[in-house]
Amino acid sequence: MPIANYLFMALDAYWGKRNFMKTDEPEGEIRKDEKKGGIYVIQKHQATHLHYDFRLEKGGVLKSWAIPKEPPVERGVKRLAVMVEDHPLEYADFEGTIPEGEYGAGLVQIWDKGTYDVEKWDENGITVFINGGRLSGRYCLVRFKREQNSWLFFKC
Ligand code: MN
Repeated sequence: MPIANYLFMALDAYWGKRNFMKTDEPEGEIRKDEKKGGIYVIQKHQATHLHYDFRLEKGGVLKSWAIPKEPPVERGVKRLAVMVEDHPLEYADFEGTIPEGEYGAGLVQIWDKGTYDVEKWDENGITVFINGGRLSGRYCLVRFKREQNSWLFFKC
């Protein structure tokens, strides 16, 4: 697949779910200025169910997971992390209220932010060093064998 098509598709799901005339969330674009020390952010999202959106910059977008409980700050706590659609890099700065009736309606606040470095990243496992305020150190994401989008997230 030509790279241009691949890049366009990376945010298709994100764009398809939102009406940017109604939500203040960024429309965004795919950015290719790769550098060392990618963006790391967790947004607390008070939608229908409170959850934490964990995001890591990769390939010009933010790879994203929804974590239903508070993310682990210490070893020994494992959290389910459900992979959701890629978000634009601009989303890392977003805070605000998504209006009633729109996708993800509710308050979004930055819960933690910083940078991260990759030790390993493949389709079944990701190991990163997070440099944040609340989360700091080595973290692992391990994908469930039979479920495409379900991962375990823990300090490792
Ligand atoms: Mn969310």
